[in-house]
Amino acid sequence: QLRLAEDVIARVASENLETIRILFADQHGVLRGKTVVASGLASAFRNGVAVTSTLLLKDTSHRTAFPVWSGDIGFGDGMLTGASDILMVPDPATFRVLPWSPHSGWLLCDLFHKDGAPIPISSRAILRKAIDRLAATGRRLVCGLEVEFHVYRLADPRLAHTDGGMPASPPETSLLSHGYQLLTDARYDALEEVMDDLRRACQQLGPPVRSMEAEFGPSQCEFTFEPDAPMAHADAMMLFRSLVKQVCARKGLHATFMCRPKVDNGMASGWHLHQSVVDAATGANLFMPHADGTLSDTASGWIAGLLDHAAETCLLTTPTVNGYKRYQPFQLAPDRIQWGRDNKGAMIRGLMEPGDRASRIENRVAEPAANPYLYFASQILCGLDGIERGLSAPPPVESPYESAAALLPKSLIAAIERFEMSEFYKDRLGPDTVAWLTRIKRAEWDRYLMTVSEWEQREYFSLF
Ligand code: GLU
Ligand code: MG
Ligand code: MG
Repeated sequence: QLRLAEDVIARVASENLETIRILFADQHGVLRGKTVVASGLASAFRNGVAVTSTLLLKDTSHRTAFPVWSGDIGFGDGMLTGASDILMVPDPATFRVLPWSPHSGWLLCDLFHKDGAPIPISSRAILRKAIDRLAATGRRLVCGLEVEFHVYRLADPRLAHTDGGMPASPPETSLLSHGYQLLTDARYDALEEVMDDLRRACQQLGPPVRSMEAEFGPSQCEFTFEPDAPMAHADAMMLFRSLVKQVCARKGLHATFMCRPKVDNGMASGWHLHQSVVDAATGANLFMPHADGTLSDTASGWIAGLLDHAAETCLLTTPTVNGYKRYQPFQLAPDRIQWGRDNKGAMIRGLMEPGDRASRIENRVAEPAANPYLYFASQILCGLDGIERGLSAPPPVESPYESAAALLPKSLIAAIERFEMSEFYKDRLGPDTVAWLTRIKRAEWDRYLMTVSEWEQREYFSLF
């Protein structure tokens, strides 16, 4: 385990690496940064690497000349006023050598102002604060990840690296045929070459991959990961999304964590987060139910907290316009705020049996495009709040799509409005973070509204 900057510097020298990618996860959970040459690494650790603050500041896309481009990344006031720099300070524990680019190292950073003050809106700082809050109560969260994504064959593989995250021609050719191919061996075999490349990269880089699946939809894959601590898993998810997209692009394929890509019969991708809370001193799983199967107080409070805050939390778990197109009944995705016992249609699936040390819940609410730091922070803050307020989980649901439970927000704008009004998040994240995320996401919604969809054209163009 490389923990110290000196260890990383020594390894870069001994392996003759040429460059190090110095990166941070922005508000959207997209990695941005600069690449330094190997000889500049010591200085990067000591002084940080300056990067323009326009990457983080408020979205003013409606006022800039580059509405789509600028809004996509929360481009800031700096475009109008001239931008100052902020500092990326690498965390040596995140160091990796990229198997698909073996001359290149990779480091994730925390963000600071030039005077050394931490930047509170940085997503890694937000997660760290939430983890510390839970730790102060003598507990910690253990989480396991299940991530779905789609892989397409590009009509023209040379377009795999096209800028903007979208290939210039739609990646419509499914890697796999349609039909009910869930978990068939034949389909896994068809995917095996891609799966193998992704798995090997994972195993070399550390995300603790457990299994791979050919999922429901054509071209849909799933990776699951062993349980780990939230920060380790959030960093691992940043690495995983990068490796999937970059390894696929090098093979002329396009991988996307977009929730519901526009393909025939396309299934939405979810990002399920298994969670159990353990006693930090003893390691005991506090989600183990009583002998008669009733929930432990910790599990009951945690579930109740997640449900109580679910609507105002959606902006953090489901941050895109597209993510709300997944909240439909009868697709193993949730559409309302409830929990059930081993029920894949409920938002929270309880997997807690007496004597089972792996007792846990699975929150199925999120889309794979979510920023992992904000997503995990939200789970900790909501669950802990449920415990601290002494809330109890309601009875589990049996028929999730017929229950009387409240619906999840139907659209990004509904989620934005709930988040914007949330006294809970203003207290836990600070009013500035809430206002900042709200502003960026409102700009995204406004851009969406300015686009006339194919559906509208078909529905109204002839009729009226
Ligand atoms: N694709 C489903 C979702 O949107 C999940 C399917 C499954 O249970 O693996 O969450
Ligand atoms: Mg799945
Ligand atoms: Mg699952």
